[in-house]
Amino acid sequence: MKGIGASPGIEKGKVFVIKDWQPMLANNKTENTNAEISRLERALNKSTTELDNIFTKVKREIGDKEAAIFEAHIMIIEDPELIRQVKIKINEEKMSAEYALKTVRDIYLEMFKNMDNAYMRERAADIKDVTDRIIRNLTGMEKKDLLVIEEKAVIAAKDLSPSDTVQMDKEKIIGILTDDGGAASHVAIMARTLEIPAVVGLGNITEQLRTGDEILMDGDEGHVFIKPDKDIIKEYMKKRKMLRTLKTMYADLKGRESRTKDGYKVELSANIGTPEELPAVLRNDGEGIGLFRTEFLYMNRDRLPSEEEQFKVYKETAQKMEGKPVVIRTLDIGGDKALSYMPMPDEMNPFLGYRAIRLCLDRPDFFKSQLRALLRAGAYGNIKIMFPMISCIEELRKAKALLNEIKEDLNQRSQVFNPDMEVGMMIEVPAAAILSDVFAKEVDFFSIGTNDLIQYITAVDRGNKDIAHLYTQFHPALLRLIKQVIDNGHREGIWVGMCGEAAGDPRLIPILIGMGLDEFSMSPGTILKARWILSNLSKKEMEKKVENVLRYASAEEVCEALSFDTGVI
Ligand code: PEP
Ligand code: MG
Repeated sequence: MKGIGASPGIEKGKVFVIKDWQPMLANNKTENTNAEISRLERALNKSTTELDNIFTKVKREIGDKEAAIFEAHIMIIEDPELIRQVKIKINEEKMSAEYALKTVRDIYLEMFKNMDNAYMRERAADIKDVTDRIIRNLTGMEKKDLLVIEEKAVIAAKDLSPSDTVQMDKEKIIGILTDDGGAASHVAIMARTLEIPAVVGLGNITEQLRTGDEILMDGDEGHVFIKPDKDIIKEYMKKRKMLRTLKTMYADLKGRESRTKDGYKVELSANIGTPEELPAVLRNDGEGIGLFRTEFLYMNRDRLPSEEEQFKVYKETAQKMEGKPVVIRTLDIGGDKALSYMPMPDEMNPFLGYRAIRLCLDRPDFFKSQLRALLRAGAYGNIKIMFPMISCIEELRKAKALLNEIKEDLNQRSQVFNPDMEVGMMIEVPAAAILSDVFAKEVDFFSIGTNDLIQYITAVDRGNKDIAHLYTQFHPALLRLIKQVIDNGHREGIWVGMCGEAAGDPRLIPILIGMGLDEFSMSPGTILKARWILSNLSKKEMEKKVENVLRYASAEEVCEALSFDTGVI
C-alpha cells in the first residue's frame, strides 16, 4: 500500500491494530439535573488535572511544541461556550452529563468535518480527543491502553490523537501507520520528533490488518507491505542496512568544516518553517539557517501575529543559532499558501498573482510590523532579511525604503535594533535572474529559489502531477541561468546561496560547487550527507565539468552526466 511517508526509516515487525474508541451512550433521561451538573464539573476538573500532568511530562521529556497541544486541550475544557451548551442540554433536555457532552461535541465535529481546511480538521481531532477524555472520566470506561502492548510492534490506527501518541510506550513502538493524517498532522510531527518511522494517510489500512500480522514499512517512501514475501524483505533489509551505514559515515563529519578536497569552503545551512525545527538543525550541524519560511508563523491561527510575537520567535531563533547566520524571509503568502483570516482574491493563476512581496507592499500595515520585529530581533544575533518573489527593481527599492523608514522610527524611539542588517533577495523569478547584474548592486546577497524558478522558467506548475515529468532541476536553461546569477553576484562582490530543493540534491551539489555557489540551504537531515559529498569533490574538476554540462541540450543528458559524480544517491 502507498501512503504519505511522514517520518523516515524502514521497519519490519508485527502490527498492533488500535480500533477507534467510540463510547456507546444511551439517552437515559435524568430528573436530577443538579447532580448531573456536579458530575460534569468533577469530570472537567479531573480531566484538567490529567492534562496538566501530561503537559508537564511532555514539556520535560519531548518538547515545547508537543506540550502546547495539551495546553490547547485545557483551553477547550475551559471554553465557556462549549460547557454552556452542554449545561443547556442537561437542564432543558434532561440529558445525562455524558450524553449531553457527546451531543454537543458531535455538532462541533460535524461542523469542522465539512471545512475545507486542514487546520480546522486538526482542531476537530483535538475536540474529539478532549471530549473522549471527559466522557471516560464521567463513565469510568477505559480506552484500550497503548501501554498494554507487550512486545515491540508497529501500531496501526485510524488516527492517533496527541494524547495517544504521548502516552505510547516508545520502547515498544517501532513504527506508526494511520488511515488518516497528512505530513503536517500532529501524529506526523510527533513521530518525526520521536524518530519513529511513520506512514500516514493510508486510507483503510486498519481494516486490512489484524493484530499480529507481519508488515514491512518504509517511512521515506510511504510504502507498506502486508505479509511481505522473502524477496521484498531481502531488498528492504539491504536498503535499511545501507542507509544505516551511510548515516554513521555522514555523522562522522559532525563538527568538521564543509570543504572540497581541494580546500574550497562553502556554508551548509538549513531550511526551516518553525523554531521547533531548530533542534534538528543543531543535531545535524547546520552552519546557519539559509531560509526561515515565516509564513508558517502566520498559518494555523485565526489572526495576524503581533510584532511582539514575531520579535520573540526571531530573537529566540537567532539566539539559539549562537551568532551563525539566520536568513529570515519576509512573508511569502499567496500562490499555494493561504491564510484563513485573510481573504484572497479569486485568481486564474495564483502563482502569478497577488502574492509574497506584491501583497506585502500593498499591505504595508502588517508588512511593517514584520520588518520592525526583524530589525529589533537582529540586535540579538546574526539575522539577515530576505525578500521573496522580487520581479522588478521598484519592488526591491520600495521594500528597502520601508525598511529605512522603520529604522528611522526605531531610532527616534531609541529602541534597540540592528541598523546594519544584511538585506538580500530571492532569485526565483526569471526577470530577476536575467537582471541579476543590476540587482546585485542593491543587495547584500542572493538566494536562488529553484522551486519557483523552475516553474517560471519552464512554465510548468510545480504542483501539477500531470506535467510533473516536465518539472526538472536538470533543465539546461535553469543551469545556465544559475551560473549567470552566481557570476553576476560575484562580480559585484556579494555572496550567492540557494535555498530551493535543488541545493540538497546529491546530483547537483557537484555542479553547483563547480559554478562557485557560496551557500547551500536544505532540509536539516541532508546537511551531513551534503558535507560528505563535497568533501570527496575537487572544485577544479567540477569547474571543467560545468563547461561541458552547460552545452547539453536536454535535462536527460544533464541528469545522466551528473549521476556519476557522487557515488551516493
Ligand atoms: C523556492 O521557491 O525555491 C523557495 C525556496 O521558496 P518556496 O518553496 O517557499 O516557494
Ligand atoms: Mg518560492
